[in-house]
Amino acid sequence: MPLETPVPATSAAATEPPSRQQRLRSEAAALFPGGVNSPVRAFRAVGLPPLVIERGEGPYVVDADGRRYVDYVGAWGAAILGHAHARVVAAIRAALERGLAFGATHPDEIALASAIRGAMPSIELLRFTSSGTEAAMSALRVARAATGCDLVIAFAGGYHGHSDGLLAEAGSGVAAQGIPGSAGVPAPVAAQTIVLPYGDAEAVDAALHRHAGRVAAVIVEPVAANMGVVEPGGAYLAALRRATDAHGTLLVFDEVITGFRVSRGGAQQRYGVTPDLTVLGKVIGGGMPVGAYGGRRDLMRLVAPVGPVYQAGTLAGHPLAMAAGTATLAELSEERYEALEATAAELEQGLRDAARAAGRAVSLARVGSLLTLHFRAAPPRNAAEAGEVDREAYAGFFGAMLDQGILPPPSPLEAWFVSLAHGPAEVAATIAAARRALAA
Ligand code: PLP
Repeated sequence: MPLETPVPATSAAATEPPSRQQRLRSEAAALFPGGVNSPVRAFRAVGLPPLVIERGEGPYVVDADGRRYVDYVGAWGAAILGHAHARVVAAIRAALERGLAFGATHPDEIALASAIRGAMPSIELLRFTSSGTEAAMSALRVARAATGCDLVIAFAGGYHGHSDGLLAEAGSGVAAQGIPGSAGVPAPVAAQTIVLPYGDAEAVDAALHRHAGRVAAVIVEPVAANMGVVEPGGAYLAALRRATDAHGTLLVFDEVITGFRVSRGGAQQRYGVTPDLTVLGKVIGGGMPVGAYGGRRDLMRLVAPVGPVYQAGTLAGHPLAMAAGTATLAELSEERYEALEATAAELEQGLRDAARAAGRAVSLARVGSLLTLHFRAAPPRNAAEAGEVDREAYAGFFGAMLDQGILPPPSPLEAWFVSLAHGPAEVAATIAAARRALAA
């Protein structure tokens, strides 16, 4: 159904006035492409009208008709403490009173940067941006400047934001030749990105040999979370480290999702593999717009005004984002990660049991508080396998969960984000709903 068409909830809707949410949805459809400001919000992958969310409280979001959902979208990963966490809100309020933005160095930038550096020793110097997209794009600019090489290796099914070069994806098995993954990306730009299958270290080694002396960086989500959750494991990451070292290529971990999520020190701590550069976002902004990239001092000293790599931002290091991020990271002690792990493990087990009871060919992948219920008998290991999930079955599952007040991600190829606000009651409600949804 075209999203621009207001969707009647029941046949009676033809005579009833539209609900507030239906009205807002129609207004949004007249203002934004697809009615949204980021494509996945349109719910196209599940064939339903998108929600208009009015507010959030802890593990819940509330739509414009006042319906409450246990939320596993979690602002796409940013809301690790849940919504409207009192200390984060208080920190933002206090920052607000001091003024919004100054375009100058601010004490809160230093506080957040120190917390990040304390958790991730590979980050000696860093730079804040306003989004993960900018951070990933800028990290690769640094890598290219440092190595004098243009090519970059990325992996099919990975996502590093929407900058031109990073939308390239493998086409028709021509893994060595990037093709535009989006209209509007110049082919010569896309061709600078070599797209390889995720989880295959030999393919990386082979590509580095084939393009010897021409590859600036390998950029990787150390746990993939944009084709559903796919855990390649520490041995794969260590193999990437060895291969890049052997070829003078830089290793860039995109920890926009995994940073401060799969452990306080991110995937690099969890798997004990140290990248040259790290890209961050989401959790470090506590729900405010933010990104960061950082790493080895010699590399980051290439960034202007010290070095020749230009990168800037009017609102970069925004005081409200810095305050929200600092307050968020202050809550994330090692014990809180243990609690998060326990909650997510309970949810995983419940979903596994529900799937078994329903006799459904689904599988579960979980790393810390990231999980995906894959509608495929075995968890996918790469984009090709993730492409085989039963999208129609997922859409049915999603609709049945939504009807029961549970909001999983509106696409089978996204992670569920468990937060510290999710407790036993929400987990139990989710599992009970999943039993019914999977049995249907
Ligand atoms: N990198 C990863 C791994 C992401 O998941 C995302 C966004 O989902 C980005 C980069 C881009 O971040 P942003 O949406 O803040 O531009």
